This record gives sequence, structure tokens and C-alpha cells, in this order.
Amino acid sequence: MKNIFAAKLLIALPILIFIFIAGGCGKSEKLPNIILISIDTLRADHLSCYGYKKKTTPMIDLLAEKGVRFSKAYSTSPWTLPSHASMFTGLYPTKHNAVEENFAIEKKAAMLAQRFQDAGYATGGFVSHYYLSKDYGFDRGFDKFEMQLDDATADKMIGSASKWIRDNRKKSFFAFIHLFDVHTPYTPPLKFAKKYYPSDMAAITGSTRDVLSVVHQKDPIERRKMLRALTALYDGEIDFVDSQIAALFKKLQVFKLDKKTLIVIVSDHGEEFFEHGLMEHGFTLYDEQIHIPFIFYCPKSIAKGRVVDVPVSLVDLMPTLLDYAGLQKPTDIDGLSLLKLIEKPIKTPDGLSPMETPEQLRERVLHAHTTRQGPDRMCVLNDGIKYIYSPRFKLSYREFGPEMYNLISDQNEQENIIEKDDGALAEKYLALLLKGNMYKERKVWHVRWAGTKGESRYNGNVTTLNRIIAGYKNNVIYDTDADGKLVAREFLWKRKEGAIRFIAFGEDGENGFSMVPDPPDAKLNFFLFKENKDYPKSVHIGKIGNNPDAIPVALDGDIPRVSKELPKDGYLIWNSMEYMNANVVGQFEIGDKVQPSSEMRERLRALGYLSGN
Ligand SMILES: [Zn+2]
Repeated sequence: MKNIFAAKLLIALPILIFIFIAGGCGKSEKLPNIILISIDTLRADHLSCYGYKKKTTPMIDLLAEKGVRFSKAYSTSPWTLPSHASMFTGLYPTKHNAVEENFAIEKKAAMLAQRFQDAGYATGGFVSHYYLSKDYGFDRGFDKFEMQLDDATADKMIGSASKWIRDNRKKSFFAFIHLFDVHTPYTPPLKFAKKYYPSDMAAITGSTRDVLSVVHQKDPIERRKMLRALTALYDGEIDFVDSQIAALFKKLQVFKLDKKTLIVIVSDHGEEFFEHGLMEHGFTLYDEQIHIPFIFYCPKSIAKGRVVDVPVSLVDLMPTLLDYAGLQKPTDIDGLSLLKLIEKPIKTPDGLSPMETPEQLRERVLHAHTTRQGPDRMCVLNDGIKYIYSPRFKLSYREFGPEMYNLISDQNEQENIIEKDDGALAEKYLALLLKGNMYKERKVWHVRWAGTKGESRYNGNVTTLNRIIAGYKNNVIYDTDADGKLVAREFLWKRKEGAIRFIAFGEDGENGFSMVPDPPDAKLNFFLFKENKDYPKSVHIGKIGNNPDAIPVALDGDIPRVSKELPKDGYLIWNSMEYMNANVVGQFEIGDKVQPSSEMRERLRALGYLSGN
């Protein structure tokens, strides 16, 4: 038996070798080298190759000019964890499940680096944020996985990565480099700050975080000045990162890898500068948040100087890279291979073969999703229209609800056409959004009260015979641990079977939380207090029309709004039907949980990821 098997192997081996030789960059004897560079928080329209008026990215421009640039590439989420998880799994956020701080990537999801490692690649991952740590599953498939935090500037990250590349240059390698410089705080090296900072402006004093927190309070002229200064520092960071990519490229030239290594430049999401009333990222799904750079460069295997206008998504990265390396793609993912759009044309007697866009890439529907500091919001892009689904809710200084934009005639997304639509177009796009079974309609119970910052302590119990499967907060929710000690919990996701206990200190304006009972018609009992005193008289349940005097509220259509101008004397409870992550139940049952340490929570808070006290 053994001999027969050996004979089969001998026949099979030459075929395998042939496949390996035929695939990939340079058509050399080994699998093609790949360097994936993710520049965190880099919005597409701040790169000169994407039309920015300042020359922020000379090196990346060069890679784009000699490679393939996708002009309409979209992230799957406006913040680091879910978007990078999409990059590595080819799945949309509600499928890979890493949609909040305390959820890791679904264990059964295939990971990009794992596929490369299984195929014999040397794999090196160099990351500079906790959201890309092994706690979330990002180390899966990396031989070498290095996480540097806080002060890990691009020079340090590139330094580590290029040493690893040097040591592995004789092998086929996959390197992933994550650069965090462009993210807040905007503190580029002086040379790069000076290059962009308006000469007529005094230096900004105070931390980026402090400055960001007051932008909304300024009058329009003062605000414009602040935004100019902040944008200049942001651009300085971009230029600095670009200079470090140039340094990496020089090293590749020294290693003689520059012509046969695929370099991919991508970002996880963008950054907003008050275009829609907010700063930073994570909260909205406008293009300044989800339109990202997407560039492929390799002289030996990638088309030269091509700009592709077909809309693509971060979920396409994994299947494209596997396809490029001649490796098998997982079949049950959302992404599609873009190989046909990036590969070098073949010389034919009539000239170069034209780019062929596969049928399935032409009419596709792209998705993005976030739950950052609020309920599920998601958008769908198709045929030049972006439809954003959002329940009515308030975040920071803005109210949110459903929106729809024509991205062709209104690139800056200023005119919400849902207001003019007779309902037909919105209905069509809502149907597209719901088609993938990623979202489900659920009954949500809302508990709200009016408050003043730090003033009162609200507490209570909400119990049901059934499970309460999810919740979100408007401010920090406190809970007691097993010893009865008060513990701050930013999320209401993990409640005891059938009960939520909470203690919350007042924030200015509307305070409270929302929750989803399972099943939807589960009976709920509310026990609510203020400063531990019972409050039966001022709890109002249901729509405000029933008893408008029961609680201080303002009406916005059928939706009650708590107003801080009115006496702060009780709770308002109502329910609504909302679309949300269809896997919420699954998350509670599967439970790939992540519990960041308190030190890590402080780091995340310093970066603006966690709100509250
Ligand atoms: Zn990010």
C-alpha cells in the first residue's frame, strides 16, 4: 500500500510544482511576496492621488501611478476593529462578529494570514493598536506577531517590519503593517507639521482631545480656523507616514524585492472634520468615514497606471490576495476577488488585452455598519446611491435618523433625498440592505431620563421572565460585581439571565439605555429609582400622547424627547421596532468574549473610543 501511495505522490508533485510556478508575481519559483500596509484613519480624499489639493502622498502617488488605484473603495465600518476584521476574513461585520470592544472575530472564520501560513508562507504582523491584538484573533496565522502601542510611530513600525522582511527575504512572505500615526492625537514631527500649518495661525494649545471636544461650541468663523489647523496636522501625519513608506520602499530596493513584491496600500476608515457635525470617526457612515484608498503595486504582475472605477469593498481584499497567490479562497465569504481588475494585461497580436470586469462585480451592493456609541446603523451602496438606515437617536450634538444620498450629483452628501422621496426609492434600498439576512427587525425598549452632568444617581432593575439580549448606552452604566462592589460597565451586552441592574450618573440632557428582550413580546418589569428613592409617580410608559404630564418630555413626531430645560423628575419608557445585527442572539450564545484590562480601557478612552466617566 505504501508504495502505491508513494507512486501517486511522485505523479502529483510535478503538477503541484507547475501550479506554484505559474501563479503570482514574477512567476518565480516561489509564491509571491505580499506586503499589506493599513494606514489607520486615512480618508481617501486627503491623498494627492485621490485628488487632494495638497501634495500629501508623493510615495503612495508613485505606487498608484505605476500600479492600480481603486477610486471607489469602501470600508465595511468606520472604526478599526470591525474594518480590519473584514480585511482579514472577507466578511461583513455582522458576520465576523467583531462589532464591539468585547467581541472577538468569530473563531470559525478563515483568516487571511492563516491561509498564507498554511501554504508555507513566512508571515509577519506588525500592529499598533489593541483592537488588532491577539485578544480579538488577529494573531491567527502569523509566525511573528508584534504589537506596539501608543508611541509606536510609523518609523518604528516600518523599522521592525523591514528587519523581519530582510530576515525572511529568501522565503515567500506575507507582511502586514498597521500604522496608527494619522489617528488622533495629530502630532506629526515638527518638520511635517510646519509644512501644512497655516502661517497666519497661532499654534493650537492643549491636547488634540481637548481641542476636538470644544470644536462644536465655537462660532462658525472660529470653528473654521480650528478645523484648518486640525486638518493641517492631520495632513502632516499623512505626509510623515508617506515618507516612511518611501523608506520601506528604499529598503525593498536594497533587498532586491521592490519589483517582485506586491505592495497593497489600504486604510481601515477615514476621519471627519465636522462635515456632518461631528469629529473623528466611528459614528457615521458618510464618505469621509468609509471612502478609503485602495492601491496595488507590483511591476511584474500588476497592471500599470490603471484607475478602476468599479465600487469595491474591504471584504474583497482577502479573496483578492489569496487569488493572487494562487491559493484557494473560502467559498462562504462576502468578498469577491478583484484579480481580473488588477492583473497585468497580456500581450496579444492586437496589443494589450483589455481589463474585463466580472459580471458579479458590476451590479453589486456594498455594505457598511457601526454600533459605535449607539444602536446599529448600517448603509448600503448601489448604483450611485447611499442609503443609511438609522433609528432616531441622539449622539453628542446631533440627532440621527434615516438618510439617502445621490453620490453622483452630491458627493459631499449634503442633501438628504429621503425627505423628497415618495418612499419608493427608500423602500427599494431598504430591501437591498435587508436582502443579505445580516439584519433583523427587533422590538427595542428604551429607558430615558433628563439630567444634568454629575448631578443625580439613577438606578434600577429591569427584569423579565425571558432573556434581555442586548442593550446600548447613552452614558456609562454601572453594575455591581459578585462582591457587591460598584463596577463601571460601558456596555449592557452582558446581563444576568433576565435582568439588568444599573446605576448611572447624570449627563447633560438625555440619559438612558435601550434593550432588546428575547422573545420580542417578553414581559418586562421596571423598578426604577433616583438616589435610591422609589419613583412610581413619574414613570411614563408608552407613547407620550397617553399622558403628557407624566414626565418632562419634548415631542418629535411620535418620538418622545427628554429636554434638559424641563424638570428632571423621572423616567420615560417606550418601545420601537428597529433593524439590527441579526447575530445578536448568536453572539450571546457563542460568546467569543474579550475583556480589555482596565489599563487598556484607559488607553482606549484616551483615544476617544470609550465615553463617559
Ligand atoms: Zn482605525
